[in-house]
Amino acid sequence: MGKNITISENWVKNLIQDFIATSPLNTLQNENKDPAWDLALVGFSSGTDQIWQQYKEYVGAFHWTPWEVFNQHCPEEIVSADQLTVISWILPQRKMVRKSNRKAKTYPSEEWARIRVYGEEFNVALRHHVVKSLEHKGVAAVAPMLVPNWTIVKSERFSYASSWSERHAAHAAGLGTFGLCDGLITAKGKAMRAGSVVAKISIKPTPRPYADHRAYCLYFAEGTCGKCIDRCPARAITVAGHDKEKCREHLARSREYVKKTYQFEGYGCGLCQVGVPCEAGIPVKAARKALERGELPPPPPPIA
Ligand code: SF4
Ligand code: SF4
Repeated sequence: MGKNITISENWVKNLIQDFIATSPLNTLQNENKDPAWDLALVGFSSGTDQIWQQYKEYVGAFHWTPWEVFNQHCPEEIVSADQLTVISWILPQRKMVRKSNRKAKTYPSEEWARIRVYGEEFNVALRHHVVKSLEHKGVAAVAPMLVPNWTIVKSERFSYASSWSERHAAHAAGLGTFGLCDGLITAKGKAMRAGSVVAKISIKPTPRPYADHRAYCLYFAEGTCGKCIDRCPARAITVAGHDKEKCREHLARSREYVKKTYQFEGYGCGLCQVGVPCEAGIPVKAARKALERGELPPPPPPIA
């Protein structure tokens, strides 16, 4: 895989959208055989982007740069960071899934729980498909979430964090900013799942249409909202942010409920992702309009 092979942005986007449209794995595995996902948002970031170093400082030194994860898993390839592109995608939750979970008060709707299991199984298959398709073209690639040494690490600042975060990769690729509840608010909203692959290809990075990593959240941009606080049945969200431990404990409790109520092995919650202004779009008008015009949104005021 030593040659320089040209892979275009459109080739990658079509690869992802075609898999979503045609793969039999794209299913909720329910009676109606509903698809798990519609089309994805896709963005690209460079292996040399300064943001990877900033993640090391902000998230922790254990958070890999694209070069670190690529170099560990494709050691036969001699590459520098500037030869790497991170492909990121967002799978927005479908309307029927969001609608069903809006009614949930403590544990997830059946559709949401199915997405958490079968929708994520599809997301795993999509990562494999992107890597394999690139390899078939002679391009080395790795899906950081699927490597055996991907791990969750105890973190002083975040209680725990991982060696690669799909949401952070998507933020780097211009696909969204973080909300009070820690979710990534994208042009299609916060109800979504994300994925990524690091590849030895050169694709122009997607511009980040935000100067602040919280520009799309009403709480940080305008000092309003906080609706996700009330939606959380575990009181894991406050104005101080997201308590990952409380959230994790609630997810663990949901297993019994899902098994008993829906008769399959699953779990989930996501109540903070629906029934809120950021569910299916960017709720900050100035940021949404700026994105439509291709400009940066105004900087948020300081939080009191
Ligand atoms: S519900 Fe409101 S406060 Fe919470 S993340 Fe969304 S926009 Fe921000
Ligand atoms: S996923 Fe559920 S428990 Fe976790 S923060 Fe959101 S609403 Fe709360």
